[in-house]
Amino acid sequence: MSILVLGGAGYVGSHAVYQLKDQGYEVVVIDNLQTGHEDAVHPEARLYKGDIRSREFMHSVFEKENIEAIMHFAANSLVGESMVEPLKYFDNNVYGTQVVLEMMKEFGVKHIVFSSTAAVYGEQKVIPITEEALTLPTNTYGETKLAMEKMMAWCEKAFDLRYVALRYFNVASARSDGQIGEDHNPETHLIPVVLEAAIGKRPAVTIFGEDYDTQDGTCVRDYIHVEDLIDAHILALRYLQNGGESNVFNLGSSQGFSVREIVETANAVTGINIPVKMGERRAGDPSTLIASSEKAKQVLGWKPTRTSIHQIVDNAWSWHFQHPNGYQK
Ligand code: UDP
Repeated sequence: MSILVLGGAGYVGSHAVYQLKDQGYEVVVIDNLQTGHEDAVHPEARLYKGDIRSREFMHSVFEKENIEAIMHFAANSLVGESMVEPLKYFDNNVYGTQVVLEMMKEFGVKHIVFSSTAAVYGEQKVIPITEEALTLPTNTYGETKLAMEKMMAWCEKAFDLRYVALRYFNVASARSDGQIGEDHNPETHLIPVVLEAAIGKRPAVTIFGEDYDTQDGTCVRDYIHVEDLIDAHILALRYLQNGGESNVFNLGSSQGFSVREIVETANAVTGINIPVKMGERRAGDPSTLIASSEKAKQVLGWKPTRTSIHQIVDNAWSWHFQHPNGYQK
């Protein structure tokens, strides 16, 4: 029996595959390699190149493989892009998930753990944000992830399916042994953008807005180490397999750092005075997102261990410094 990892060549998915392999699981990967990298796929995982939106392709993989459960990371995930190309997000994220659920129904696969996002919450008054907060996305990306969650909930009522939705805050960093890391093209996420400025790949970091209602005027986010994040996925999988009910959990480190604080941390980690420019606000950005992850700790027994922002930036720096062009050889 295998765990099927959708999007297992992408940033978060590839870390999931490595950690599942660390724990002795058989792993099958589906990825269309639009944003993922073949070299990010663990050498002992079977990779099927194709799109989750293709019923024919998905059917062929489900027929060939003996799939016990699914981890679903195959989605577009850029807030800014989602505001300009909303239909791309509905197509890939919502319709893609519909096809996944159709396959689960047809082949009797009952358990799915999938990436949702803090973007489902939008602008919240009460910080840290708990899972009980109202979901009011301020961007299309968050709206499509919320739709995915709701689709699962309705399917659960209709047929035998249980899911765990993990609402990620800001995932960052790289596998601590340096084998895999973050490589988006173009890169838009803050920590890799800052580190690209450190290695001279871009002239400066642009800070998107300094007039937010935060301590230094720049947006505050909760950065979580990708390895801690994946630990929670494996616990969620076991939780479902042990009979746990469908559930939603926040995953963050419960600490907020402003954009300026991230730049300062990167200055300290790299020893480089990273050039900074001020820019306009980015559409769709809430000012502050900080998680309460108490529920994941209590219900799943999750114990994040890599919560120091210094370590998060330092592991990211090791990857970027050693792979200035990412997976490109
Ligand atoms: N950000 C920034 N400059 C950049 C990239 C990001 O100021 O070049 C800010 C962005 O506005 C947000 C925070 O950094 O407040 C984190 O953005 P990122 O894209 O990394 O993650 P998101 O919060 O969109 O998931």
